[in-house]
Amino acid sequence: MTSAPIPVFDGHNDVLLRLLDKGGDAAAIRSFLEGGGGGHLDLPRARAGGFVGGMFAIFPPSPSMADFMELMQGDSYDLPLPEPLALSTGQASTLSMAALLFRLERASDGAFAVCRTVADIRAAEARGAVAAILHIEGAEAIDRNLTMLDVLHAAGLRSIGPVWSRPNIFGHGVPMRYPGSPDTGPGLTERGFELVRACNRLGILVDLSHLNERGFWDVVEASDAPLVATHSNVHALCPVARNLNDAQFEAIRASRGVVGLNYATAFLRADGHMNPDTGLDVLLRHLDAMLERLGEHGVALGSDYDGAVVPEAIADVSLLPRLIEAMRAHGYGDELVRRIAHDNWLDVLDRTWKD
Ligand SMILES: [Zn+2]
Repeated sequence: MTSAPIPVFDGHNDVLLRLLDKGGDAAAIRSFLEGGGGGHLDLPRARAGGFVGGMFAIFPPSPSMADFMELMQGDSYDLPLPEPLALSTGQASTLSMAALLFRLERASDGAFAVCRTVADIRAAEARGAVAAILHIEGAEAIDRNLTMLDVLHAAGLRSIGPVWSRPNIFGHGVPMRYPGSPDTGPGLTERGFELVRACNRLGILVDLSHLNERGFWDVVEASDAPLVATHSNVHALCPVARNLNDAQFEAIRASRGVVGLNYATAFLRADGHMNPDTGLDVLLRHLDAMLERLGEHGVALGSDYDGAVVPEAIADVSLLPRLIEAMRAHGYGDELVRRIAHDNWLDVLDRTWKD
């Protein structure tokens, strides 16, 4: 007996950055809509793999990002936080990537939809369109008076990580460090607290994934929304500074929040290596540990596709059914698999968004 295919809603991808690096032009747009452009995620492979939607990250890159991945190598590493970006630099790349997202939607003939409500997501899914949520990873485009926050929210922004692993006017970010504790220094600034409160008022999700531990507790203090880390794993299993410790999981559970499992091998493997030769059993160990810490309503997926080195077995989005099958073979029932792969995201968005 075969059961119905299980759809996947995903907490994080970096396809917009990959397409921008390819020029962000008509050819890049076509490569997403028609496939054949490499990377981890495009529309034909999303359809093939049951990927029905997710957060599409807008990430304002630091100069020389290529070196960054090269430095996260070996048995230990400790990268300094990159220099802050100027407001104009953050705005230029954020607006380019937002425009790219809207151009993808326009060129897709209804097959790719930027969604602003859970009803939008359900409607997109019902007609077979991929649902995209406008998410910002690093609020460098937002000025000290938060005027750009209102503009971006009106354009469709529904999720924001106040910092990437880099300092800005809102906070400090967690460095890429292995092994290392997430407790790496100061957290949110006074403006960071204001940003979180403004997000609460507007119903924008605040993503904890690149905050350090102090910043995390600052959000706990400032926010009245469920706590969400879109793409983070379990520090007890992979002691990289980017992962969450048990006290953080406990706070997320208490808020009825969600954590999305990150497929980045550097955040999965006990040895911290960025190595595609990593079995799905390693992901299942993290899922088991997350279920233990968060319960069945708190665990979801946050692939980091197009932003990380992922396991060979799920080397692109078309191979997601293998992860679903691995969960089933591991003993997760259909209802739990459905929650992890899809429903827990929609539930927490529904409890976070205001419209
Ligand atoms: Zn990230």
